Amino acid sequence: MIEDIKVVSIIGVGYLGKQIAEKTSLKNYTLRLYDINAEELAKFSEDLHKKKNTKGEVTSHNSIEDVVKNADLIIEAAPEKLELKQELFKIIGKAAKPNAIIATNSSSIPVSKLEDAVDQKDKLLNIHFYNLFTMPMADIMRGTKTSDDTFERGKKWVESIDITPLIVKKECYGFVFNRVWRAIKKEVLKIWAGGYADFEDVDKAWKIFIQAGAAPFELMDQIGLDVIYDIEMSYYKKSGWDDDKPPQALKDLVDAGNLGKKTGKGFYNYE
Ligand code: NAD
Repeated sequence: MIEDIKVVSIIGVGYLGKQIAEKTSLKNYTLRLYDINAEELAKFSEDLHKKKNTKGEVTSHNSIEDVVKNADLIIEAAPEKLELKQELFKIIGKAAKPNAIIATNSSSIPVSKLEDAVDQKDKLLNIHFYNLFTMPMADIMRGTKTSDDTFERGKKWVESIDITPLIVKKECYGFVFNRVWRAIKKEVLKIWAGGYADFEDVDKAWKIFIQAGAAPFELMDQIGLDVIYDIEMSYYKKSGWDDDKPPQALKDLVDAGNLGKKTGKGFYNYE
């Protein structure tokens, strides 16, 4: 629990909203839920009540105005439609307490695109959850006017429900890990669609690869950053697309002789 967040409201209690609600209910927060599908919401909140490990009070509500009334943190998890989210933010902004944090769980819409809908622009956040029971992490990203206080409180709340926060340092399409995942997807789909390998083989390879346990930056350090840079440059030369150009920061490491494990320093320090 964190002190200044006691009441958490969720608007849109579908696939992800349910997971956020379940995770939150394991701690001593007051949980307030709203969904346009009142019947489904009633069923879900009844199930949540019955669960032995539900700690705080859980209530369902019939309107957005009512569900956000006393909330310290409001999480919107309605469908991924910009106009809908703008409309919801307008209503939330008018009904929320002045110091309430208003977050969207959107997978792709930066909260800056919802700023015009509310007056309290310093209270906005992207809190993008992954599948919370298998991947307990959430990207946290600011809008253009989000205050440090909002960001810190949001981050602390995420930690308080045992979710690892992934700090997005500046607005980034795809946040932290979705962007990585997009890149992986882009390539595996090309391998499959181009007839280079069966998708079953790609899946098999991935499982074996992941069991090796090395994370991408550790792996790049093992391979050698000069090698990585050359490979990335060859992709870039082939496509000519700016998007494929390796970052200057990688070239700077190479130019400085920081090539990874073989030189004692790359992304990590091995000295
Ligand atoms: P979903 O369709 O399962 O759930 C959306 C819920 O919103 C439904 O229960 C629906 O009844 C409700 N809803 C629709 N209109 C509403 C309104 N006007 N007011 C209140 N509730 C309304 O969708 P989801 O997969 O849970 O996605 C919800 C959000 O979470 C999206 O922004 C999506 O990008 C994001 N997200 C999804 C995933 C995922 O794996 N599915 C992961 C991370 C983030």
